[in-house]
Amino acid sequence: MQSYDVLVIGGATSGAYFAKKTAKLGRSVKIIEKLPPEKLGTKMDIVHLTKTDLKTFDIPTVKEGDPEWAFEFTDNGFASPSNRYRFPVPAETVGLHLREYTALMVKEALEAGAEIEYEAAFREFIFTDGHISGVRYETPEGAKEIAAKAVVDCSGANALPRRSLPNGYGIERFSLADDDMFYVILRYARFSAPQQNTFWLNTKSWYAPFSMNENEKIIGTGAVCGYARAEAEAAKLDSVTSNGDFELIKTEKGITPFRRPPYSLVADNFITAGDSACLTKPDCGEGITSSMVMIDIAVKVLDEALRKDDLTKESLWQINREYNRVQGADFSLVRAFLTKLIGAVTDDEIEYLFSQGLIFNSKFLGGEKVTPAHAVRTLTGILTSISKKHISGRTIAAALSGMKLGIELRTLYMNFPKNPAYLPLWSARAEKLWQRVGKVK
Ligand SMILES: Cc1cc2nc3c(=O)[nH]c(=O)nc-3n(C[C@H](O)[C@H](O)[C@H](O)COP(=O)(O)OP(=O)(O)OC[C@H]3O[C@@H](n4cnc5c(N)ncnc54)[C@H](O)[C@@H]3O)c2cc1C
Repeated sequence: MQSYDVLVIGGATSGAYFAKKTAKLGRSVKIIEKLPPEKLGTKMDIVHLTKTDLKTFDIPTVKEGDPEWAFEFTDNGFASPSNRYRFPVPAETVGLHLREYTALMVKEALEAGAEIEYEAAFREFIFTDGHISGVRYETPEGAKEIAAKAVVDCSGANALPRRSLPNGYGIERFSLADDDMFYVILRYARFSAPQQNTFWLNTKSWYAPFSMNENEKIIGTGAVCGYARAEAEAAKLDSVTSNGDFELIKTEKGITPFRRPPYSLVADNFITAGDSACLTKPDCGEGITSSMVMIDIAVKVLDEALRKDDLTKESLWQINREYNRVQGADFSLVRAFLTKLIGAVTDDEIEYLFSQGLIFNSKFLGGEKVTPAHAVRTLTGILTSISKKHISGRTIAAALSGMKLGIELRTLYMNFPKNPAYLPLWSARAEKLWQRVGKVK
């Protein structure tokens, strides 16, 4: 049986990144990927990364003319439900063809010394003395086995490897329920006039480019609990923007996790990363680089564990603590706040806030420095809107409750237990808070 230090299940962006970073440290790494190479990264055509992301992570930079490069833009903005008010939020963004970019990432992993086997679908774990020691997988030539000191699940939202671990192995085995994910519809549209890149909070919709032609936009819409709801939201958006007055080039659909990650991302000889661990950004559902934040930490800790020849969950535990400090705690705060807010705020309230430039302005949402004078003006404006009944007490209560729960969760995640023995106690406290946060309706 072939044997490796690390076996990565899934060879898309998370898997290729994990494999490259581990191989660069001189470890033997193999990826098994269920798709053939020509299908890898085809779940959608275009993805967006910020220019900062491209510089922050050890990923290929591409330029105009490269097959992976699709476009770049800086102009972006938020608009009110009626589309009457809009404010700009510039962001330096690069559009990439996912298939070509994934292939480039895999190429870099192979150049670093990793191996990949395509059309190789994980089936089950092999255990020795109760610990993972390898996997069985299906190939066109039949079932195969592979031994590995550590197995990394980068298989995406379906997370079959994580879900098929035995009960009590030390990691949660949940599947995504309908209200744990956003169902996203992307309509590639050609308008007769230029359109601005815009995000509408109320319908969770956006216009974003798919080429350098300003008449060509992806109309994206996301909703929990199924594509029918996303379609209804898209129709609502169209009624205030285009009335469907565009040529539809193609439509793509996909899901992105919107739920807290497993409390532990590691178990004995096992790590979960990427969509399989629900590491997507809570404000937009993007997950390519938020996964890399965790992978950078995981690869460092895993390397040390391999050096000690100790891959128990105790040895990998530092991944949980560091990830939560660097990103997980902040994501918990945002997730709790948005879940409460989205469930309560009405279109009329958002419209009113836009019309008054309250909260929905370039300072708060555009990351500009908020001065004390601006903060006081905002607070006064909000108090006035409550007294004039433009904003309901229910919405304010939901926002405050979301913020309070978010801060409590953030504090809890920042104090993730040092020792796995304390996880049951810690997760019971976290669970109580998450129950109070609830789900996006
Ligand atoms: C419509 C839409 C638009 C998005 N746009 C963006 C964006 O612009 N920017 C951004 O950052 N994020 C975006 N996201 C989120 C992003 O696509 C994901 O977070 C990211 O692709 C997750 O990468 P991953 O490698 O973890 O999982 P995946 O990309 O899902 O890859 C998992 C891989 O594992 C393989 N696999 C699955 N099961 C097995 C098995 N049993 N055995 C072997 N291999 C297996 C799969 O074939 C696949 O190649 C978007 C999501 C959607 C739905």
